[in-house]
Amino acid sequence: MRQFQYEYDNADNFKKFLTKVNQWIKTQVTSQVVFTIYAETIDKDYIGEVCDLIDKSMPDAQYFGCSTNGNIIDGKLCSKTIGITCTVFEFPSTKLELFQYVLVPETVHEVTADITEKINERKWVKAAKLLTTIRGMSMTGFCEDLWDANPEVNIFGGGAFAPDMNSEIACVFSKDFGYYDKGVVFALLGGEDMKFTTTYIAGWKPLGRELKVTRAKESMLYELDGKPAYETYYRYLNIKNDEHFFNNTLEFPFFYKHNGINILRAPIASNPDGSLTMTSDIDEGAMARIAYGDPWTILDMVEKKGKEIEVFHPEAINIFSCAARRTFWGNDEISKETLPFQSIAPTSGFYTSSEFLRTKGYVNQHNVTLVIVGMREGEYTGNEEPSFTMSAIDHSGKISMINRLATFIEAATEELEEANKKLTEMAIMDGLTQIYNRREIQRRIIDATKEYKGYGDGSLRTDLSLIMIDIDDFKKVNDTYGHKVGDEVLRGLASKMREILEEYIPDASCGRWGGEEFMILLPGCSADKAAYIAEKLRVGFNEIDFKSAGRQTISLGVTESYPDENPDYFCIRVDAALYHAKDYGKNQVVLE
Ligand code: GH3
Ligand code: MG
Ligand code: MG
Repeated sequence: MRQFQYEYDNADNFKKFLTKVNQWIKTQVTSQVVFTIYAETIDKDYIGEVCDLIDKSMPDAQYFGCSTNGNIIDGKLCSKTIGITCTVFEFPSTKLELFQYVLVPETVHEVTADITEKINERKWVKAAKLLTTIRGMSMTGFCEDLWDANPEVNIFGGGAFAPDMNSEIACVFSKDFGYYDKGVVFALLGGEDMKFTTTYIAGWKPLGRELKVTRAKESMLYELDGKPAYETYYRYLNIKNDEHFFNNTLEFPFFYKHNGINILRAPIASNPDGSLTMTSDIDEGAMARIAYGDPWTILDMVEKKGKEIEVFHPEAINIFSCAARRTFWGNDEISKETLPFQSIAPTSGFYTSSEFLRTKGYVNQHNVTLVIVGMREGEYTGNEEPSFTMSAIDHSGKISMINRLATFIEAATEELEEANKKLTEMAIMDGLTQIYNRREIQRRIIDATKEYKGYGDGSLRTDLSLIMIDIDDFKKVNDTYGHKVGDEVLRGLASKMREILEEYIPDASCGRWGGEEFMILLPGCSADKAAYIAEKLRVGFNEIDFKSAGRQTISLGVTESYPDENPDYFCIRVDAALYHAKDYGKNQVVLE
């Protein structure tokens, strides 16, 4: 494979370039020629001009492309509106086929079903590169449908964009299908000698505390921690709801786990109700953190990934990079993170509205990420050492100040989270016995009875039981040996409870109900099973030989919850059972 790259200046010079490529091809054995056209414009005529020139000069060549928010040519931000790559495949086995579809919410499943079938029918396919318009629609279904494609097939690509980040207009185009303003073009590439390697780089680091996505639907993020999502941006970053909102927030996307990998999601607009429209869908229930771009981390990652890719000896590298990264670095510095790849192979790509990559089988839609694809034909036969080179990273100046402040926030957040955890623990634990306190066990009983009410919604009811425990003649222990010895007995009972529950019902909760009374909540446990546990506990506790107090006994009440029962009645019944255990002579279990 050989790749030529060109920054489109004018028709005459482009014709000369095409002639040169044609001449080179004549001297070689080649199988396929494909052009990719990345256009930082949606001007159909201007794009058409380039396509016509290719049609005339190389009628057998394929081409496809999309509108972009900037192009990467020779590893750098392209200085011209249109950047072109011409890839010449040299192995006869290499195959390429282009398919293009209209893509609107109504056609998503048809499109993915069709392309998945095409991929799966063509056993030679090794990769599907996709260029797609995305604005104004959820791509989650699209990505999920593509999981059905042969798992061996690499899937990657980018979202078409417009030169104006606030614009929703974009296009994709290809030789046989023409120009679509809402569409997706797939280039299926493969053959036994084609090889691919893919990776992605974020480099953005999470900052500050975790926020729970309490309400979200598709790409609408309504609430974080139960508050309007916009408030988070205003409160933590002082980002105002004005015309700069998009640019300002792009640098501070959300960071969260999805399909087992870290994903970034950026807001594109804030709405009057305080909700945020995100670049892509965000999962309700996810724990998200605001992330910030850290140039050191990014460049360290570039170096690490570059060294991984060089081993593959790619003959061409594709980069799909988020337009937000260009905003983040600025035009003068953006090429820092892409140019190093040019040291291993011709590197081209564009600034996208989203990046797509299949990782661990899943096709993910990324934002603020750099997706990198290396490709080659045949085995590497050279004996050159890997050559990825990168100029030393400058760890000084303004950047280091931002980095230090971020480190400060991270450390402070960690300390606060630790302190918070301790406080929460203290608020729910009983100090003497280190099991839940009355308030916490009561709350758990109330929640559990609500959860286990069953029947009403047609679901099968799961059993729920309670055990209540009271130490027999405990006053005597205190009176005879003193309070300290009494405390030791209380602690002994609590640890026996923990030990037995861990063995038999790990998801049970136990708490101190008062003085020498305890309560155990047993989800998924029938009364009979609870009585069995209670008996184990009665015997187990009696086996403890306390240093001064010797052997002690307990009485236990056991009961099971009725469907839709008021938790108060549930507790009253277990209390009655315990009362009867005392009444019948103590040191026994009574089931009611
Ligand atoms: P019964 O068999 O009927 O339960 O008799 P009892 O003596 O255990 O019952 P009673 O309720 O009269 O006495 C409970 C005693 O528990 C009274 C109190 O001194 C003691 N107690 C309550 N909290 C603590 C504590 O934190 N430490 C100690 N050492 N004793 C406590
Ligand atoms: Mg008592
Ligand atoms: Mg007692």
